[in-house]
Amino acid sequence: MVGVGLLYQAGYFKQSLSQDGWQQETYPVLDPDEMPLTLLREQDGTPARISLPLPNSRSLSAQIWRADVGRVPLLLLDSNIPENDEHARNVTDRLYGGGSDHRLQQELLLGMGGIRALRAYSRITGAPAPEVFHCNEGHAGFLGIERIQELMNPQDGSEPMTWNEALTAVRSATVFTTHTPVPAGIDRFDRAQVEYFFNAGLTPAVPTSHILELGAESYEGGDPSKFNMAVMGLRLAQRANGVAKLHGVVSRGMFQGLWSGFDTEEVPITSVTNGVHTPSWIDPAMRAIAVDPQENDQDPASRWRKIYQADDKDLWQVRRDLRERLVHDVRRRLRASWKKRGAADAELAWTDSVLDPDVLTIGFARRVPTYKRLTLMLRDPERLKKLLLDPDNPIQLVVAGKSHPADEMGKRMIQDLVRFTDDPEVRHRIVFLPNYDIAMARVLFPGCDVWLNNPLRPLEACGTSGMKAAMNGGLNLSVLDGWWDEMYDGQNGWAIPTADNKASTDERDDVEAAALYELIENHVAPRFYGESTDDPEITSEEIPHQWLAMVKHTLATLGPNVSARRMLTDYVQKLYVPASVSGRRSLADNGKVARSTSRWIERVRQAWPQVHVNMWTPRVCCKNRRSVTS
Ligand SMILES: *Cc1c(COP(=O)(O)O)cnc(C)c1O
Repeated sequence: MVGVGLLYQAGYFKQSLSQDGWQQETYPVLDPDEMPLTLLREQDGTPARISLPLPNSRSLSAQIWRADVGRVPLLLLDSNIPENDEHARNVTDRLYGGGSDHRLQQELLLGMGGIRALRAYSRITGAPAPEVFHCNEGHAGFLGIERIQELMNPQDGSEPMTWNEALTAVRSATVFTTHTPVPAGIDRFDRAQVEYFFNAGLTPAVPTSHILELGAESYEGGDPSKFNMAVMGLRLAQRANGVAKLHGVVSRGMFQGLWSGFDTEEVPITSVTNGVHTPSWIDPAMRAIAVDPQENDQDPASRWRKIYQADDKDLWQVRRDLRERLVHDVRRRLRASWKKRGAADAELAWTDSVLDPDVLTIGFARRVPTYKRLTLMLRDPERLKKLLLDPDNPIQLVVAGKSHPADEMGKRMIQDLVRFTDDPEVRHRIVFLPNYDIAMARVLFPGCDVWLNNPLRPLEACGTSGMKAAMNGGLNLSVLDGWWDEMYDGQNGWAIPTADNKASTDERDDVEAAALYELIENHVAPRFYGESTDDPEITSEEIPHQWLAMVKHTLATLGPNVSARRMLTDYVQKLYVPASVSGRRSLADNGKVARSTSRWIERVRQAWPQVHVNMWTPRVCCKNRRSVTS
């Protein structure tokens, strides 16, 4: 496996807050020489280069950094080199920067340049040429065009393929994963814009008109002036998937127009549910108590059953330690944030006693697009206050998330939330932490007892943060969307009922927020604090055994299923192996099968209008079966 991406000079932004709670963005520049990266060099020591022609006789070149992620090399293209003019140097300046021309050049570099980088990498290191190509979303989709060009204009003396033959061969070895049902998450360019770049000679052997057809929204409701990267990705890939079962269903409906005449259930988009990398996300203390270090390849899930042997007292202690560490981290971050917002140390003594290591802790952290509804919890502020300040069963909330820099609505949601958390009456029980990132996440997930997620169903394709919480013994409290829709089993957390049938989003928010408050008040908090029962053994102890039964069940059953290991096994079995088999077959013998398959497809397409379905009486049908099928 080899990964390919872009090395951004500034990465994504750093978030801080203004005095009045408005998101501020800064873009600290990264220095590749201070990161665990090495430059790919030719035998003679000069840095390897790839280059793409641009309009007006300009060009876009890039150097190639290599990062080793475990055993997987990751190649990162970097256009910040002296041979580029200033515009070209800034193509890899930052994620989501600039306008659509900038974005298009990033994607040309990633897709077409990415294939050229892989070829350079194989040439220099002797690594075998990749056989299967997997595009995550449309961003890298132009890699298919570059591979078609290689087959139409071979440099090794083999017989050139036609467009249709090359498309058939490329499709057979390509996997496409769609990642979002939110239209704003899909890249679309003006058709004229794409034409302009390809006409500069990016693919001399490939007619631009064919490329434009691949991205055309040539279905009902499509916009003929647009070039859609997801649509191109699906047309270039013989195998495609969504990232959770429900997302597979949604995607089959969403892209049905590309398979006209198919019933929705038969649209060839399957699903592989995402997973997260266990060694990176499980806290060492939780790992020690919950996971058997002995691997069992026959039954990987068995390792997680170790937790059933743990003593409740020990498990409760681990959970408390993780919560306490989070509380200390929150206090430190909150003080730093307030100092940035202009407060003096003398005013900040209160931050030292924010949150309580013995109070039920609910986490909510994610990007802040509208559909994730950061502020649903504020729907009835008085009700939330009561939950936070309940004298017997209080809760505390830790919230974090970055808004896209251009999303005013997201920033307003953050501001509304920050203003609520600034209130001296509740500020010891609810905090907003700026600059959500992986470093924060690694303390946050293990420290939360409950992980909250309330997207507008079904817009969350999968969601992964709840998985990171689950593998640390956190219980999910979530709308039945994404992964939770298929993995919630009634004992591993709670499902927030959805009001999909309500006409307006306002009504939906009202109904779903009310359900959320009700669940916390009557189910989640009482269980955490130990429901009083008639059993004296349970009430006499400080340990909530019923809660811990849910924690154990979560670790043992969700642990193995939310792991990247399970995900990767699914990808290998369902998609990578079949794609490598058909890719090899289609390219063997100088592409014999690709060529004949492509001819067959042509013939069937041309003859299809002549196919008729006639009604036969059963007797005639049976007698004539031979001739009918032939
Ligand atoms: C896991 C994670 C995400 C993604 O979370 P989702 O639930 O998939 O939205 C985003 N940012 C950070 C820092 C994460 O750790």
